[in-house]
Amino acid sequence: MMTRLHSDKLRLARWLRTTTQAELSASSGVSQAKISKIENGLESGDDDIADAIESALNLAPGFLRATGTRSSLPEHFYRKRASILVREQRWIEAVVVLARQGIAALCESVSIEPSFPTPRIPCNLNTINPASDVARDVRRLLMIPEGPIRSLVDVIESTGTIIIPIYGAPSTFDAMASPAVTGSPWDLIFFNPEMPGDRIRFTLAHEFGHLIMHRGQSENCEEEADDFASEFLLPAANLRPLLRGLDLDRALQLKQIWGSSIGALVYKANALGCISSNRYRSLQVMISQRGWRKDEPGHVPAPQPGLFHEIINIHLNNLNYSIGDIGHLFGVSGREFQDQYFPQSLGLRIVK
Ligand SMILES: [Zn+2]
Repeated sequence: MMTRLHSDKLRLARWLRTTTQAELSASSGVSQAKISKIENGLESGDDDIADAIESALNLAPGFLRATGTRSSLPEHFYRKRASILVREQRWIEAVVVLARQGIAALCESVSIEPSFPTPRIPCNLNTINPASDVARDVRRLLMIPEGPIRSLVDVIESTGTIIIPIYGAPSTFDAMASPAVTGSPWDLIFFNPEMPGDRIRFTLAHEFGHLIMHRGQSENCEEEADDFASEFLLPAANLRPLLRGLDLDRALQLKQIWGSSIGALVYKANALGCISSNRYRSLQVMISQRGWRKDEPGHVPAPQPGLFHEIINIHLNNLNYSIGDIGHLFGVSGREFQDQYFPQSLGLRIVK
């Protein structure tokens, strides 16, 4: 039987395996001309070609022939380093496309009842509704008590937003927010869990800010999401008295209490006018001299997402899914699913 290979699935599979057409041709024995034409929709391929490519790329049988999958990302916000490579970016996009599809399938079997729906508050930098005001409104709407947010993950998940760690991601990737769309009505935040805890907290708050304030990219949206995160985690009303005359010893103490980096606290002290511009400059110089830009002292525990694990565990424990079944929904093997999302296995059944 002739089976049509989906052109965009083939490209997605190559991105997932960070493979060029030429490399895939060498490993699968399918000519590059054929691969190129299939990707561009000029030829459809057959079962032999699909088998050869699926096997060369270590994909589940049928991966290239499955229908009903969206192979590109809808609107999303990306937090990444400028140095990210094209192939790293493509890998992240392929992982997120497949994860969105897997999560949509899993969420059919569970009901997520948010304590608070995600607030949608458009932001307007420096004018009617700056991001810092939005952050204060959101703290009030979500009934967050004064002071440090101890479990940022609980707060974000209380809005029904699903937070997903991607292990093995390049260090140039911080996070991606993927707002709910028709057919996938869950706000999702993907993040790199292999960053320091304080950086993860700021990153999650930044992405949460995008989900609340933004639909569509705008000129200032990155700056707005940073302002949101800064005020959400470090409310000016609480921090102003604590940051007056800040030095690095006190910044380190505050880091332990507030879960924010020394860099973020020094930045905030300057933004609130709690230190002179001379002191701000000298603190910056000291931070650089001590090598703290790369590696700050003070440990902030890494936030641990709960909702995603819960959804997986319901499938494993109550719905009799195997890890292999769940991996299949994410387009990969059970082992690969586990390595990507639960490398410490976290109480999951071992793959048979
Ligand atoms: Zn952003």
